[in-house]
Amino acid sequence: MIYADNAATTAMSDAAINTMTEVMKNIYGNPSSLYSVGQKAKEVLEQAREDVATAIGACAREITFTSGGSEADNQAIVSAAILGAKQGKKHIISTAFEHHAVLHTLRKLAKEGFEITLLDVHENGLVTAEEVNEAIRDDTCLVTIMYANNEIGTIQPIREIGAVCHERGVLFHTDAVQAIGHIKIDVERDNIDMLSASAHKFHGPKGVGFLFARKNIRLSNIIEGGAQERGKRAGTENVAAIAAMATALKEAVNNIDKNSSNLIPKRDRLIELISKIPHCELNGDAKSRLPGNVNFCFEGIEGESLLLLLDDKGVCASSGSACTSGSLDPSHVLLAIGRVHDVAHGSLRLTLSEDITDEEIDLIALAVTEVVDRLRSFSPVWRDLVNGKREFIIK
Ligand SMILES: *Cc1c(COP(=O)(O)O)cnc(C)c1O
Repeated sequence: MIYADNAATTAMSDAAINTMTEVMKNIYGNPSSLYSVGQKAKEVLEQAREDVATAIGACAREITFTSGGSEADNQAIVSAAILGAKQGKKHIISTAFEHHAVLHTLRKLAKEGFEITLLDVHENGLVTAEEVNEAIRDDTCLVTIMYANNEIGTIQPIREIGAVCHERGVLFHTDAVQAIGHIKIDVERDNIDMLSASAHKFHGPKGVGFLFARKNIRLSNIIEGGAQERGKRAGTENVAAIAAMATALKEAVNNIDKNSSNLIPKRDRLIELISKIPHCELNGDAKSRLPGNVNFCFEGIEGESLLLLLDDKGVCASSGSACTSGSLDPSHVLLAIGRVHDVAHGSLRLTLSEDITDEEIDLIALAVTEVVDRLRSFSPVWRDLVNGKREFIIK
């Protein structure tokens, strides 16, 4: 089996598993308890906070642990909205191809009287700082734009967007769930005020993540209760998972250069091999792209059948994001970059991990080529395209 769906989730690293089991076995105290078993858990928790902060150039007190990326996105956006509303600022800027954790939170705020501007994304899957600048108004309280897209892997000009936001006095949040641990992030250099992260996208455990928010930003609670996390997130901390997240993040960040210089040529080779299939096209910019992301649209194909046949051949891939598979609507990300419905339905996302081999790249390319061929051979749509009864959209 070749696992090529690392944007959906990653396997935990051995080091992260070791940390997690070690803490579960030996450091089971409640970090809020005052006796020594509790205090030992507290030490583990605070060391993890320090490590996570260091990985992104932040201070420990700017990190709040959450149940994952979705919760961090919710908390960041709702907090900024509450702060904005207090100053009479109820306009928020985002993009049309954010993760649903962002889009659905914004949709909810729209019902509560906030005005949301969703910037169009260019065909290459990018927005520009200039476009953000033009969209900012006197009543804008937040700009939230993802660092890297979970489907097409495009990396936004975050540093420039952050600079524009700061010039105009607007808070800037980024969903960095796909980027962190895979490309270098520094919240100072990148002009980021708030950032969301999730451990299971960088070889940590599922169900844990964090929100970075600058010291001067007052976070609002999403979960009410005890005074954990400086009163910003109630509930006994998942100490073992948090410690494992810190281990995984340190490991990922320490190896970023090595991993990306190893992975990028493999990604590009896979893109080159798949591009040889007729009437297919890469989605998203070829250069400003996550090291492990390959995403194509194939004309005359249903993405779902593609996945099933690839699974038969031992390749785990995805069509659209895992959250939207199961619904018949094509991916909102592909629609946002201007793909028409028919073409968007025939999409395939392959997301590689650092340990993929050249042989596996060749096997994936061969499997995709065979499966596309096979599906087209009994597709009425493809027959019409070949017979000229329909026009090819992808040349
Ligand atoms: C996976 C993902 C999330 C959600 O993170 P969870 O930890 O699964 O809640 C949010 N944003 C992006 C871009 C993601 O890829």
